[in-house]
Amino acid sequence: MPDSEWQPPLPIFDDVAGIAIDEQSQVAALTGESTDQAHPGQAILWPELASTPEDAPVCISNGGPGAVPGTVEAGGEGMGEGREDGNEKGSEKVAAEQTAASLTQLERGCRTCQRCDLRAGCTQVVFGEGNPHARLMFVGEGPGQQEDIQGRPFVGAAGQLLDRILAAVDIKRDEVYIANVVKCRPPGNRLPTWEEAEACLPHLIAQIQAIRPKIIVCLGALATQTLIDKKARITRVRGTWFKKDGIMYMPTFHPAALLRDETKKRPVWEDMKKVKEALDHLDTP
Ligand code: SF4
Repeated sequence: MPDSEWQPPLPIFDDVAGIAIDEQSQVAALTGESTDQAHPGQAILWPELASTPEDAPVCISNGGPGAVPGTVEAGGEGMGEGREDGNEKGSEKVAAEQTAASLTQLERGCRTCQRCDLRAGCTQVVFGEGNPHARLMFVGEGPGQQEDIQGRPFVGAAGQLLDRILAAVDIKRDEVYIANVVKCRPPGNRLPTWEEAEACLPHLIAQIQAIRPKIIVCLGALATQTLIDKKARITRVRGTWFKKDGIMYMPTFHPAALLRDETKKRPVWEDMKKVKEALDHLDTP
């Protein structure tokens, strides 16, 4: 599609789900009141979050996949269109190979991209990595210094924290796909501008279309504003499910924000438990 015709898909709120703020989680995040359920990874990895009252439920916002198991299915139009959960292993294998080939082709195109000035200042393009047919995808902001050096997303301090977060909810890194809004490192690790995010968005959308995840976790404000709503405030919408084209979106804080402010650990823990629960519901017939 010519650049002049391309428009970012914003805003993309689901008409039914709307902004279904999970008030219990919001209040808990503000007051420090726990809504945790016991989890073996929590006390090990984040001992300060280990209080687990037995009667405290984990809430899933209205419209979230955990609320109505089995309703987060493909078949709508747009980015989530066409995914099937058939039991035909042969066709699954063919589909996975096609997706991998598609991603390889997209990555090749991305490496020669010069749609914005970031390419001139970075060492290499960090396209993304992970399971090409992941049901769960994480989208961050942009590569940092280590990512720029290694050519892989989330391998610096924030990436190591993301690995711990995933381990805490029993999700393996190689099960998921991880990418950023912009593929080239902004100078000095600054946040990408909105113009840079818009320039790079076709790459991200193409990735999403190829992978067709069921759930996307938006890590930080930029990913949330790029994929959910340009006006969204991460402190208000985090922990809330959004739905578009058969994909559920969960905004939460970026791991780098947790490194700067430990009080954000609890909200992220709560958000990730919702993601894990929704992921498990995908397996429920
Ligand atoms: S950040 Fe994205 S749009 Fe900009 S040059 Fe790199 S790949 Fe292209």
